Amino acid sequence: MTQRQDEGAADHAAVALVHRAESALMQGRIERRDFMRAAMAAGVSVAVASSMAGFAEKAHANQLQLGTNLQKSYDFIVCGSGSSGSVVARRLAENPNVKVLLIEAGGSDEVPSVISPSQWFTNLGTERDWGFSAEPNPHINDRRMPLSMGKVLGGGSSINVMIWSRGHKNDWDYFASEAGDDRWNYDNVLKIYRRIEDWQGASDPLRRGKGGMVHVQTPDNPIAIAPAMLEACRGVGIPTFDDQNGVMMEGDGGAAIPNVRIKDGQRMSVFRTYVRPILDRPNITVLPHANIQRLVMKGSRVTGVEMLLGGKPLTISARKEVVLSTGAINTPKILMQSGIGDAAQLKQHGIKVAHHLPGVGKNYQDHIMVAGCVWEYAEPIAFRNNAAEATFFWKSDAKLDTPDLQPFQIEVPYTSTETGKQYAPPPACWSLSPAIVRPESRGEVLITGADPSTPVKIFGNALAEERDRTALLRCIELCREIGNSGPLARFNKREVMPGPKKGRDMENFMRDAAVTYWHQSCTAKMGHDNMSVVDGQLRVHGIEGLRIADASIMPRVTTGNTMAGCVIIGEQAGALLTA
Ligand SMILES: Cc1cc2nc3c(=O)[nH]c(=O)nc-3n(C[C@H](O)[C@H](O)[C@H](O)COP(=O)(O)OP(=O)(O)OC[C@H]3O[C@@H](n4cnc5c(N)ncnc54)[C@H](O)[C@@H]3O)c2cc1C
Repeated sequence: MTQRQDEGAADHAAVALVHRAESALMQGRIERRDFMRAAMAAGVSVAVASSMAGFAEKAHANQLQLGTNLQKSYDFIVCGSGSSGSVVARRLAENPNVKVLLIEAGGSDEVPSVISPSQWFTNLGTERDWGFSAEPNPHINDRRMPLSMGKVLGGGSSINVMIWSRGHKNDWDYFASEAGDDRWNYDNVLKIYRRIEDWQGASDPLRRGKGGMVHVQTPDNPIAIAPAMLEACRGVGIPTFDDQNGVMMEGDGGAAIPNVRIKDGQRMSVFRTYVRPILDRPNITVLPHANIQRLVMKGSRVTGVEMLLGGKPLTISARKEVVLSTGAINTPKILMQSGIGDAAQLKQHGIKVAHHLPGVGKNYQDHIMVAGCVWEYAEPIAFRNNAAEATFFWKSDAKLDTPDLQPFQIEVPYTSTETGKQYAPPPACWSLSPAIVRPESRGEVLITGADPSTPVKIFGNALAEERDRTALLRCIELCREIGNSGPLARFNKREVMPGPKKGRDMENFMRDAAVTYWHQSCTAKMGHDNMSVVDGQLRVHGIEGLRIADASIMPRVTTGNTMAGCVIIGEQAGALLTA
């Protein structure tokens, strides 16, 4: 480490300590004087520390008071505090005359595994993960694919890898054409991005915003294999860019150090950015540990929600609208168990049909990754930041209009359960994980009963379409070529997996190694055909008083990681509801 890097790391450690103390104060776990002592020790001025303490105490007291005096009705109820729901709640609550209830099944995000970027993977399989799992799939050797999703304030944005990936120009133009609504086209979405972002990288006034709420940067001091990967990409003809989200996402692809939502060494979840700063306001109540069971319907109008709060049933009404932002698996589940879905399927479960919408739960999409191509280091290097600091977008077939591949370099050995057993990579390894981001395979989310406690069945159908398999096989070869080429080969002792396999052997490796990229989406798609669930204004077809704002409304999954797209969906919903 250089002296500057040393100082940077020390600064981050100090910031982390102050944030931890602020979290504790906000949860009422420590006294103000303990916080002040911690802040002073970390070099924070008395004025700044007092103002932080003042906010934390006020926010804590406010939410305690609002949460223990729940009202019978609110103007708006937002269900789910994830990447979209947090944005909707914030935009609604900006009007002090509007009362907002934000309901979340998970608990506090004020824990080190959420706040510290390097600990993101320690949340998987814990109480902060819904821990879904797909049904056995013949296309991936009958494996059940684990499908983690965030169950905590901030949803996915609190447990994810923090990559900020804005989607390709063609994605947004496609959304607009499906919705029949220009508000979704690239030019209009670009305006939203410019307004909300505080981009720290190379200036690009046409595409990037400065001074907005959403801090976006490239990782501090990326690991040496990250720039080496960019050099290796150039070697195979993939151009490199300073910015993953600039002109690169309007063309044929390229390689870049990614954009991340990390500031001063801390995760910036969407909840922390949008909702946390207003927790001291009297018009927004954030209700964690509250599990939405069903929508309350009066004919075709949604009038409120039923939930379990601390295990006890509670119904709360919405004077204006309910917004479902519960993610691409629970949103269709809640719709169906409320009587909105395919009439024949609902009747099978004895559910009274409120509105026949056959598209609910259909069109399930996800990006599929191979975990991974793995190399053993000649000299081990410890991972940094979020352990994922280089990526590229490329086409498996030059004739495609949009890149369909997005591998990520991962700074640890990344395997599926099956390939982990077969290859047993040692700890000192790095990975380059091939992935397809324009899948043609479609899956489905089904309910298994009328009772909200019954689980969903997820038929993910990963790699069901031959085109997806062909593209992923090409991507594996491309990643192997890059990882074994000069700029990266100098870091390697050996290629651990998959090695030079051919034909069926390589296909079998791909099926054993296929995992989710965690971009579950598209199960309540926006559009106008008979399989669409919402219109361009995110209103559920045939239903009043209900909008959906989350990854489920995507007509097709965006090209790249999905959090930024969900923030745009939240912003669009916020603008529509406050117009
Ligand atoms: C491990 C992991 C890594 C990822 N990495 C990245 C990345 O680096 N970059 C990126 O762009 N994307 C990433 N993603 C994907 C991204 O986080 C999601 O696409 C995005 O958060 C989806 O937003 P959403 O609003 O649709 O749902 P979510 O963010 O999942 O929010 C839904 C919220 O609703 C709550 N909820 C659900 N059901 C109920 C209920 N019945 N009652 C009350 N509340 C409920 C959930 O607990 C959750 O908080 C990752 C996801 C995971 C899981």
